[in-house]
Amino acid sequence: MSGDALLRLDGVSQQYGRGETAVTALSGIDLSVAEGELVAVMGASGSGKSTLLTIAGGLTTPTSGEVIVEGSWLSTMSSNDVAALRRRTLGFVFQDFNLIPALTALENVALPLELDGWKRRKARSAALDALRTVELTDRADHFPDDLSGGQQQRVAIARAVVGSRRIILADEPTGALDSTTGEVVLRMLRRRVDAGAGGILVTHDARHAAWADRIVFMRDGRIVDENANRNVESLVVGTPRP
Ligand code: ADP
Ligand code: MG
Repeated sequence: MSGDALLRLDGVSQQYGRGETAVTALSGIDLSVAEGELVAVMGASGSGKSTLLTIAGGLTTPTSGEVIVEGSWLSTMSSNDVAALRRRTLGFVFQDFNLIPALTALENVALPLELDGWKRRKARSAALDALRTVELTDRADHFPDDLSGGQQQRVAIARAVVGSRRIILADEPTGALDSTTGEVVLRMLRRRVDAGAGGILVTHDARHAAWADRIVFMRDGRIVDENANRNVESLVVGTPRP
């Protein structure tokens, strides 16, 4: 595995529940994401993709195995330190946008920075920069309810990348979007990764996966195949990657 991996999962397994009803969601996952690398994860519903992301992002502690974020072993850290690392380093995009209805777009994007102790002005200025990358500065003062689904999703993406977050974890971020908005989101992710971040993109759509450098296929909690993108691109007609 690469020495300068931003994110590494080492032998990660996850079981939900115990005994008769236990579900093995992940078995022995090894995965690493380097700087400048976007990894797509594909697989049927229930194959463990979302579980993999929540573990990679320190939201769930795996039953066994290790998650290493920028050289830090999460298992050795206090939950407060993991939370701080999450706020500073990791950005999540979930399929349901998780925006706070009482906050404007700008305030939603600034929130993680303010929680991390940034001065309000500085946080808002960084939030405005992030909104610019998703072409939404003209909606900064709107509340989520006044935004379309696609606009809400772009706010969620801006919130995931605001500040200096270097690892972006996106769970079907284009699921609810029309294809034009979906492409804005993918282009933004790509640009951010090219600028030195790393990312994992869970997607059902091979055309979206074609934006990644590498595609990992999951089945029943295991990685069953890893391909360089060129192999998969050949299967995809009209691949959108520039
Ligand atoms: P995917 O995102 O690929 O659809 P998930 O990671 O959501 O897969 O789920 C993997 C397996 O783990 C499925 O069998 C699912 O039912 C189970 N699972 C996921 N989350 C939980 C949970 N919180 N409690 C119990 N089982 C879960
Ligand atoms: Mg899922």
